[in-house]
Amino acid sequence: MANQGRPGPVVSLTFDNGPWPGVTDAVLDELAQRGLPATFFVVGDRLVDEGMDLARRAVAEGHRLGNHTHTHTLLLGAAEDAAAAVVAEIEPAAARLAGLDGEEKLFRPYAAGGVLDYRVLNRAAVSYLVAHEYTCVLWNSLPRDWENPDGWVKPACADVAGQPWTVVVLHDVGTGAMKQLPRFLDALADMEAEVRPDFPESCLPIRRGHVEQDLSSLLPTI
Ligand SMILES: [Zn+2]
Repeated sequence: MANQGRPGPVVSLTFDNGPWPGVTDAVLDELAQRGLPATFFVVGDRLVDEGMDLARRAVAEGHRLGNHTHTHTLLLGAAEDAAAAVVAEIEPAAARLAGLDGEEKLFRPYAAGGVLDYRVLNRAAVSYLVAHEYTCVLWNSLPRDWENPDGWVKPACADVAGQPWTVVVLHDVGTGAMKQLPRFLDALADMEAEVRPDFPESCLPIRRGHVEQDLSSLLPTI
């Protein structure tokens, strides 16, 4: 991981939509072998039974957990009742993460295929995130591993090579894509990338409850 004075690319690894028994375990094994940190943006209703065990294991092994909504089905900005959407999608996942998510609470919105547009947040959600001092974590690399489970490593590496600090979104779910994770991590090692547990400011529109960027493109106009 050391760059010996020469600045290499920096990478933040994020795994969304799990935990997924049989997949998240293997991801954790791979990260542990290499001593790499990651953040798991978990879906609240998956935090039961083995899913909860995997979340606890991730924390015990030094990774971070973030709230990635409770059901991963409702675009906050498309909800008819913005406040009800917060109660349905953010609060119950937050309750299951209580005590597991560390001193900086992280939230990543559901974005239906990764499109960052006006449907991603709503004003009630922003108020909640500010009031509860959340950090909202977006991304700048989406190699679409769910569509291309065998071929996502190449676009992911191109993103890492093409910008100073890449927040890559992968999915620890049952698509088979995580079978390629060792290849990606090998490639990062070859590139002398530094894998970090934190995130660049450009991907954090809200940081510890402070709105840091213009959110208008992520909110409905009414
Ligand atoms: Zn997701």
